[in-house]
Amino acid sequence: MNINQELGPRLKYGVKTGEPMSDHTSWMVGGPADYYICPADTNELIESVHYSFSHGLSLYILGNGTNLLVLDGGIRGLVVNIGAPFNYTACDNTLLTAGAGTPMPALAKSAKDGGLTGLEFAIGIPGSLGGALIMNAGAFGGYIGARVHTVTLVDYSGRVNTLFRDELSFGYRNSSLAGKGIIIEACLALEHGNPEQIAGAMEKYSAERSRRHPNQPSAGSVFRNLPDKPAGKIIEEAGAKGMRIGGAEVSEKHANFIVNTGGASAADILALIKAVQQLVKAKFGIELHPEVRVIGEET
Ligand SMILES: Cc1cc2nc3c(=O)[nH]c(=O)nc-3n(C[C@H](O)[C@H](O)[C@H](O)COP(=O)(O)OP(=O)(O)OC[C@H]3O[C@@H](n4cnc5c(N)ncnc54)[C@H](O)[C@@H]3O)c2cc1C
Repeated sequence: MNINQELGPRLKYGVKTGEPMSDHTSWMVGGPADYYICPADTNELIESVHYSFSHGLSLYILGNGTNLLVLDGGIRGLVVNIGAPFNYTACDNTLLTAGAGTPMPALAKSAKDGGLTGLEFAIGIPGSLGGALIMNAGAFGGYIGARVHTVTLVDYSGRVNTLFRDELSFGYRNSSLAGKGIIIEACLALEHGNPEQIAGAMEKYSAERSRRHPNQPSAGSVFRNLPDKPAGKIIEEAGAKGMRIGGAEVSEKHANFIVNTGGASAADILALIKAVQQLVKAKFGIELHPEVRVIGEET
């Protein structure tokens, strides 16, 4: 029996074969995943983890695909998308519990609607809560790790575990959650706030994003900032704005964004990432390290 016959009938949304990852990444590039599923609940997720383990199938977790460069040859194994079924929020006094598939802007709006402050920074981050926790996503001085009370995940043996704040650590665009399993839910500790001030901060941050960020497909900032200087500034000073390979271009609006101008391949984007690294190294002797995650196979 194959995966479609064995696992497929046990999943509400079934198993897709050869699913183009370009449909699931904000860069709109990426070759096919051998198998692709969207578990409808935690039980389906656990069944899928057991299936992949017992069949020696590698498993890759996908949130909203906003920090990923999936290469053109695609992904060998099973891609598990934590999406809409895990999109929910519930407020209890100053604690906000949310599913890992909740988009960050929706999470920020739930906090605002509950009169809670602490997530204003998240309003324009297009990832899911699960992806944000893995990346310790942040903006405007705030970051998600600072608000974590507990995180619940399914580990790679299919057990559900809840980890408390003091068992976790969060750094610049990384967290100790990486490799621990599949995040399904988190409880965030917020504070009561002034609704007008919360709404005002969100409007300000959204306006700032539209002013600074390009509106073509991208994965946000490509490179990690240096401790003393934003990567975008260094790339701009190296003269890389507008640099282009195939359909990939270093944005004229924000030098740390590489945009898909239409028809870019993952190979174009990867080649441009390398070209920017070489240019910056040659001009300033600085090594730039990608913030985006590169996965899958080249063609
Ligand atoms: C226009 C734009 C603006 C952006 N602005 C910002 C910003 O201001 N600040 C910032 O920090 N980032 C920003 N980003 C990057 C991105 O949105 C964040 O890194 C986000 O947290 C990624 O979440 P995701 O759901 O898209 O994760 P994905 O890209 O799907 O995955 C990222 C990593 O998380 C893992 N993962 C995802 N979900 C889970 C889960 N449930 N359990 C376990 N592992 C999981 C994946 O395996 C992968 O390793 C921006 C991106 C874009 C396109």
